Amino acid sequence: MKIVDIKTSILKAKLKEPFHISLGTILETASVLVEIETDEGITGYGEASPGPFITGENIEGTLGAIQVLREKLIGTDPRDIEKVYQIMAKAIAYNNTAKAGIDLACYDIIGNSVNLPLYKILGGLSNEIETDMTVGINQPEYMAEKAKAHVKDGFNVIKTKVGIDVATDIKRVKAIREAVGDDVKIRLDANQGWSPKEAVEVINRLNEYDIELVEQPVPRFDFDGLKYVREHSSVPIMADESCWDSKDALKLVQHHAVDFVNIKLMKCGGLYEAKKIVSICEASGVEVMLGCMAEESGIAINAAASLGAALKNITRADLDATLSLSEVPYTGGFTIKNTRHLVLSEEPGLGITGLKREMLK
Ligand code: MG
Repeated sequence: MKIVDIKTSILKAKLKEPFHISLGTILETASVLVEIETDEGITGYGEASPGPFITGENIEGTLGAIQVLREKLIGTDPRDIEKVYQIMAKAIAYNNTAKAGIDLACYDIIGNSVNLPLYKILGGLSNEIETDMTVGINQPEYMAEKAKAHVKDGFNVIKTKVGIDVATDIKRVKAIREAVGDDVKIRLDANQGWSPKEAVEVINRLNEYDIELVEQPVPRFDFDGLKYVREHSSVPIMADESCWDSKDALKLVQHHAVDFVNIKLMKCGGLYEAKKIVSICEASGVEVMLGCMAEESGIAINAAASLGAALKNITRADLDATLSLSEVPYTGGFTIKNTRHLVLSEEPGLGITGLKREMLK
């Protein structure tokens, strides 16, 4: 089997409401659909979803990077995933979002060619995964109301964004805990918003509200700061922006800098690299959460959910972006059980059965 073409188009989807984090605001999502065509008539879908606030990539750059990769990959067997990676690494440095779009489409082709859903190819431990629901940054009362509504809908874990200013962050978490009661887990994401000393102070004050974990308290490059926060605070610490790929994961676990790692396919470049991160973490006793970009339309979330369901060391999921969309741009894919469980399709590959072409540009 050989790749004969790699096509791109832009997927646009509207959010049910604006989403605020400490780094910016998102109103509608835009990501890149990747379609890999083969000489055997099998097509694979992937999604490259750049998060400018997180990875520094944007749509135009991602489209350009995919064009560079396309020229080098035509003629390659998309199932030879190690070879695909070697070609991509030589063709262009960084640009992990573009590479993830291609990686996902190759895995979709692998599934389609052997008629198996991706979760079975990746490990097959389970066919479903439970996600949390994220509450964006806003006034404390508003956030508490949102959290309460999500719990009423059936979510068990609320992830909330903090990291703007310490005094209001404490009010935010207090309001949410009071609104949701004691049985709901609350995980926090500071998106690099605190200095190490600030982080220790605020996390220890927040602990009275029973916090499950705090994601990325300090700037991404500050591994020593992350370790300092972990050693001096009473809440487990998770790396997100600090962990791009398997090399970062190795450094983080060698430094004993984290309790958990958050993998996003767009940061690491796809499923192949994500599996390496999971293995490094598992060998070090560090559990993994699978996250997503807020701009993802759902095609990539089908891939992340497949990996999360398949592997034991992925114990948490923050795969709620699709649930915040008014409409998804495809048919098929996972279904939702009890509000919070993503149940994977038994269709081959990613399980995407068609595209809503009117949502593409
Ligand atoms: Mg995060």
